[in-house]
Amino acid sequence: MITLNAISKWYGSVKVLDQCSLNIKQGEVVVVCGPSGSGKSTLIKTINALEPIQEGEIFVDGVSIHDKNVNLNKLRSRVGMVFQHFELFPHLTVFENLCLAQIHVLKRAKSDAAKQSIKYLERVGLQAHKDKYPGQLSGGQQQRVAIARALAMDPIVMLFDEPTSALDPEMVGEVLDVMVKLANEGMTMMCVTHEMGFARKVGSRIIFMDVGGKILEDCDSASFFEHPEKRLPRTQEFLSKIL
Ligand code: ADP
Ligand code: MG
Repeated sequence: MITLNAISKWYGSVKVLDQCSLNIKQGEVVVVCGPSGSGKSTLIKTINALEPIQEGEIFVDGVSIHDKNVNLNKLRSRVGMVFQHFELFPHLTVFENLCLAQIHVLKRAKSDAAKQSIKYLERVGLQAHKDKYPGQLSGGQQQRVAIARALAMDPIVMLFDEPTSALDPEMVGEVLDVMVKLANEGMTMMCVTHEMGFARKVGSRIIFMDVGGKILEDCDSASFFEHPEKRLPRTQEFLSKIL
């Protein structure tokens, strides 16, 4: 579904992704963890070409995203993205937030977009809030709206960048529940998160990144948690702080 072939990226003279390679198959849930500044957000943003890379190649669903003929809007519409800070449009209602890109990017008829929006608001348990503005919702509810908005585009993969780290602790669970449900339904997902309970429950693979933008470890979730002693010292040191 997604292939990164030895990608590298620099900001000026600073290398922030260093020869990262990764392969995500359909239905896999890949959890990315690692210290702040290790390039996790940058890595995830390269996948829908929000951040250009200087070396290597990225394929989404078999298509190189660097190809001149690739329609980037179309690509981005197939790759759902959920950020730490929800990024909902504050002047639009929840319902309008869900409809907007369906109508303008996918060119869906208004009635189809409306049906799809209601369907996904029901999925995240927020149909009763459809006419509210984001500012009237809690952080957890806003993040669930952001997830529903991404899902309404019928993405082939969902990318999450620390979706719960800006939330008050009591709201983390409701967002993780939605993500667990999505994973159990077979959605292909890449999640930057330090929620190791989530990783243990639904993660297929865990990626550990370290400062300098290197992927230090890429292993299946079961062996990651069952045999932490087999991990690199650097990974163990990090895990000891978050587990
Ligand atoms: P993480 O998400 O793991 O915390 P980031 O991907 O945000 O890491 O950042 C990786 C590195 O790139 C950091 O050193 C950060 O300071 C740097 N960086 C991120 N965005 C920019 C930018 N727009 N310009 C310059 N440097 C940046
Ligand atoms: Mg980040």
